[in-house]
Amino acid sequence: SGSGWRARDEDRLTGSLTARDRVGIQDFVLLDAYTSESAVLDNLRKRFNENLIYTYIGTLLVSVNPYKELGIYTKKQMDIYMGVNFFELPPHIYALADNVYRTMLTETNNHFILISGESGAGKTEASKKILQFYAVSCPSTKLLDNVRDRLLLSNPVLEAFGNAKTLKNDNSSRFGKYMDIQFDHMGGAVGGHILSYLLEKSRVVHQNHGERSFHIFYQLVEGGEEDLLRWLGLERNCQCYSYLVQGECAKVSSVNDKSDWKTVRKALSVIEFSESNIESLFAIIASVLHLGNVTFVADSQGYLLGIPAQVIQVGLTHRKIEARSEEVLSPFTVDQAVYAKDALAKAIYGRTFTWLVNELNESLANKDSSRKTVIGLLDIYGFEVFSVNSFEQFCINYCNEKLQQLFIQLTLKSEQEEYEMEGIEWESVPYFNNKIICDLVEAKFKGIISVLDEECLRPGEATDMTFLEKLEEKMGGHAHFVTHKLADQKTRKTLERGDFRLLHYAGEVTYSVVGFLDKNNDLLYRNIKEVMRQSKNAIVKHCFPSTEPDSKKRPETVATQFKSSLVGLTEILMSKEPWYVRCMKPNEGKKPGLFDDVLVRHQVKYLGLMEHLRVRRAGFAYRRRYEIFLQRYKPLCPDTWPNWKGTAAEGVECLVKHLGYKPDEYKMGRTKIFIRHPRTLFATEDAFEPI
Ligand code: ATP
Ligand code: MG
Repeated sequence: SGSGWRARDEDRLTGSLTARDRVGIQDFVLLDAYTSESAVLDNLRKRFNENLIYTYIGTLLVSVNPYKELGIYTKKQMDIYMGVNFFELPPHIYALADNVYRTMLTETNNHFILISGESGAGKTEASKKILQFYAVSCPSTKLLDNVRDRLLLSNPVLEAFGNAKTLKNDNSSRFGKYMDIQFDHMGGAVGGHILSYLLEKSRVVHQNHGERSFHIFYQLVEGGEEDLLRWLGLERNCQCYSYLVQGECAKVSSVNDKSDWKTVRKALSVIEFSESNIESLFAIIASVLHLGNVTFVADSQGYLLGIPAQVIQVGLTHRKIEARSEEVLSPFTVDQAVYAKDALAKAIYGRTFTWLVNELNESLANKDSSRKTVIGLLDIYGFEVFSVNSFEQFCINYCNEKLQQLFIQLTLKSEQEEYEMEGIEWESVPYFNNKIICDLVEAKFKGIISVLDEECLRPGEATDMTFLEKLEEKMGGHAHFVTHKLADQKTRKTLERGDFRLLHYAGEVTYSVVGFLDKNNDLLYRNIKEVMRQSKNAIVKHCFPSTEPDSKKRPETVATQFKSSLVGLTEILMSKEPWYVRCMKPNEGKKPGLFDDVLVRHQVKYLGLMEHLRVRRAGFAYRRRYEIFLQRYKPLCPDTWPNWKGTAAEGVECLVKHLGYKPDEYKMGRTKIFIRHPRTLFATEDAFEPI
């Protein structure tokens, strides 16, 4: 009824000016007089201070991490948002989830929700909230309950193996994740599929001060049952393991490794991992810890990997080389042996992670072939800038360029299509197209990745510095590429000798070339692979198959693999309808109630909020289906209230005439009314007040 939603309208506090002053506006598109960054910032701050962490830009959701429990994720809240019109309630992640779900059901098409933001901004939490909403709100049967449990429980398992404490986030995802949730035509969740991207496996052997390795190691050591630890030959003390102590913070106050261990153990059972697979899995985790302690004097604990200790020992200390059609073993130097050991630890962990994702997918797979629609959740690393940036940041920031490109294409495309479909004329908005930066990185033969791969093909001759020289030679003239030689002319800021700088769409990042070749090669000596193939551990056996191309045929480099997986991801996403959640971090201290203007302003910039706002406001800022518009505003006109007899379009025409809309303020499309200025809609909203 009218009074019902009028009451809700008061809840929204958009009606009276004083309330609006206090809590800001729930949709940036309605911020009429301002399109400046400062105005956006003011609005975010106001809302944040009132614990209103969500704000829309049209259908895009902006979220600011509150760093405290707000009590807004209860079952009651879910019920409130289920099936309710998007704009009628305060912004919420549930409103977005519900809107996507309902659109999918009515239009029977596929969707994805891209969740972006920097480390600690709340991406993973947001994706969990969405999943939980579906788990509760979708129709359920006994069979579906099973799927639902597996979908929900895949999270703690993946987080245990793929998340770690970093300086920015106590539970930082160290891999990119795309998860499809599959729905049947009744809207029941019937299956899922996970794709993972570029796990940061270097963390297994090295952590910066104040950081940890992946959670699972600490969970096992702290929470593992006595018998299990005895079998694995582990001490209940993280300090005993060289791979766990480098960051000097094995204990994290916000993380309970013991109880997390229980959750993960239980999840693995529900997901129906066999006991023998679970044993093999923990044997691997333990063997990585043992490997970390190998000093090349004592005998190594090879038995957990199902390989005789003697064989491992030889494998870790020798390299096979070919001499006159004969293979001979040549001993490593100590440095080489340490390198080989770390490489093996990373390889074992990385491959086991891939195996784990595959197992989860087996368990989530929907065997029924009937038609399904999907909602994809993309929780992927945001743009990263540290004081020293390396190969990992280069890959992550390249990924963000690709996603920005996708955003430009999909958003512009859909916007243009909508106007076309509705028969509305509009003016396009010019803005920076970052394709030029994507090309700089990925172009065949002349992109940075190509140059890097070329250098990786010259072992012994090429170094990180020759890579940089080649870049200088080839990219020197590019507007978005700077090295120390070129810095003065382009940005007038100096650069170190071993650095290059990319002018990303989101800002400048300086990369140190140190380690680029090595990380891109990610080499494992051939004889170590051969050793691993002899393993009796089922997972290790699976991860080091005998069919794997050996070192004679070069495996794809890390950057090239990553590039192909991003191309694949782009294809998956291009065929779906996009929705966006932009997560923001209010401060660097993980503190509640603290809103750092400089930090947030920077995020407003690189999350593309201003661009999105501009696109949204270009031509027509607002559009609503006639039925919905009429339903909402019909009490404002005696002719349409309480019941309108004609078509919705005619009703809307009658309504806007009565409200005094000028001809240039709105356009009537085929199914929707388009409103040029937010202030028009705003005034209409205000017409309800005061009573
Ligand atoms: P990363 O890129 O490092 O994985 P992220 O964006 O996934 O970061 P999250 O792990 O989702 O960040 O969030 C970091 C922390 O912030 C959470 O562990 C939680 O403490 C807090 N947090 C995030 N979102 C919310 C929220 N909506 N309500 C309360 N606390 C939150
Ligand atoms: Mg995360």
